[in-house]
Amino acid sequence: MTLTALELDFFRNYLHARAEFSPGVNVIWGENAQGKTNLLEAITYLSSARTHRARYDKELIQFGVDHAFLKGEVASRERRFTLEARLHWGARRELFSNGMKLKTAGELGEYFNTVLFCPEDLSLIRAGAAERRCFLDDAICQLRPKYAAALSEYRKLYESKTRILRDWEEKPSLLDTLDDFNLRMAQVGAILIHYRGHFVKRLVDLTPPIQADFSGGRESLGLRYETVSTVSDPEAPPKAIFEELLRHQQAHREAELSSRQCLSGPHKDDLTVEINGKSARQFASQGQTRTAALSLKLACRELFREDTGEWPVLLLDDVLSELDAQRQAFVLERITGGQVFISCCEEDKGIHKSGKRFRVKNGALG
Ligand code: ATP
Ligand code: MG
Repeated sequence: MTLTALELDFFRNYLHARAEFSPGVNVIWGENAQGKTNLLEAITYLSSARTHRARYDKELIQFGVDHAFLKGEVASRERRFTLEARLHWGARRELFSNGMKLKTAGELGEYFNTVLFCPEDLSLIRAGAAERRCFLDDAICQLRPKYAAALSEYRKLYESKTRILRDWEEKPSLLDTLDDFNLRMAQVGAILIHYRGHFVKRLVDLTPPIQADFSGGRESLGLRYETVSTVSDPEAPPKAIFEELLRHQQAHREAELSSRQCLSGPHKDDLTVEINGKSARQFASQGQTRTAALSLKLACRELFREDTGEWPVLLLDDVLSELDAQRQAFVLERITGGQVFISCCEEDKGIHKSGKRFRVKNGALG
C-alpha cells in the first residue's frame, strides 16, 4: 500500500502543497514548527478521517479560512484510488474515493491504512486506560468498518445514558428510557468486546518478539485485555457476551443511579502492558516505555499486513532521534518492505539510503 502523491489546500499551515512520494522511505525534514507533523497528520487523516491531535476537524482548517482540502493518490490491492477529504467550517466533512462519496469514515480503511508512531505515544504506556482504548479503537476501525460503526453508535449511547444518569433526580421521567439504552449498549458493547478480544489476541502473539529483539532479548513483554468482569471469553460470539454484559449492568444498576455515572460497559476497558512481569505503566524506564510503545505500533503494522496482504504506510514522527544508534538501526531494519515517512529536524540522519527527502519550510514542501 503506497501513497504516491498528496495534495493539500488550506490544511493547517499548508496554503497549497503537492508532492509525489517514494514507495520506500520518505524523509520529511525541517526546523521546528514548519509543518512536518502537519504533513503526517494529513496522511493519517486520509486513512481514518481522524488524527492523533485534533479533536475537531475545524482545527485542521487553516486559521482564517473556512475550508480545507486533502487529496491522496493511493496504490493498493493492485489498483489506484484517489481519496479526497473536504473539510468545512461549521458543516460536516465529506469523504470521497474515486469521486464517489463515502458514507462513513470507516470505509477509508478499505483503501488506505496507516500506522503512526509519535512522541505522544509514550502515553500509550504511561497514561490511563483511555489512551490504550484509543490505540485499539483506531487500529480496529481501520481494519473493520463494522467496528467503526459500532463504536460510533456506542459513543452516542454512552453520552445519552450519561445524561440520563446525571439528570434523573431532577427529571425522574428520564428513567423510562434507561432500560432501552442499557439493552442497546449491551448489544453494541458486545460487538466491541468481541473485536477487541480478537485483536488483542493477535497483538499478544506479535508484540513480545519485537520487544525481545529490540532489547537484545532482555525484556519480555506481556499484554492482557481487561474488560467487563462478567465476560468470561472476550473472543466469544457477541450474543454470548451480550448476556454477560446485561448481567453486569443489572448488578451495577443501583450503583450507577446513586453515583450518577455509567459504570458498566466496555468504555472502561484496558490493555495492560507488563515488562518482565511488572506493570509497565508503573515501573518501566523511559527507554523501556518508548520501546514498548514502538513495539506495539510495529506489531500493529504486521497485523495489518496479515489482514490486508499489504504493509500499511508507517509514519514515524520525530522518534528516531530519541533512540540510540542500535535501536535506530533495529527500527530501520524492521521497517523495510513497506512505505515509510520519517520526520526529523536535521537533514542527514543516515536514514535515507534509498527513497526521497523533502524539506518542509513554513508550510511548503521542497
Ligand atoms: P516540530 O519539529 O516542532 O515538531 P513541526 O514541523 O512538526 O515542528 P507542526 O506541528 O507541523 O510543526 O506545525 C507547524 C505550524 O503549523 C505550527 O507553527 C502551528 O502553529 C501551525 N498550525 C497548526 N494548526 C494550524 C492551523 N489550523 N492553521 C494554520 N497554522 C496551523
Ligand atoms: Mg512535529
